Amino acid sequence: MRVLMNDREVGDEYAGCALCGDNRRTGTYLSIDGALRCKVCGKPWRGFYQEVMAGIKLYFCCGEHYREFRRIIQRAVAMGNVTRIKVVSIFINGGERSIRIEDEDGKEITINEPTFNLTHA
Ligand SMILES: [Zn+2]
Ligand SMILES: [Zn+2]
Repeated sequence: MRVLMNDREVGDEYAGCALCGDNRRTGTYLSIDGALRCKVCGKPWRGFYQEVMAGIKLYFCCGEHYREFRRIIQRAVAMGNVTRIKVVSIFINGGERSIRIEDEDGKEITINEPTFNLTHA
């Protein structure tokens, strides 16, 4: 499975989290206690690979973003009859997020939603 964010390939530890595109360098801040923390949730930086579909692992900044990505995939499968997902293209434009999902058989579905889930205020 390939994940593109605004046409940039993401989903590994170098390119960054499959949902937000942040990596260890861009997705963290050093807190006063000296711990490297996640910009999204403020917990100590995890940066881990996790299974998104059977046998397919992608890189995520934190558990929050992993759950969010899984939710999107499950929603696409439920709505659009897509099965073996080949490409997930995420386009972020202001407060909107558009996600296009294509499967191996050429079927595709687009989900549009506000990006409020991307960060927790
Ligand atoms: Zn993330
Ligand atoms: Zn986090």
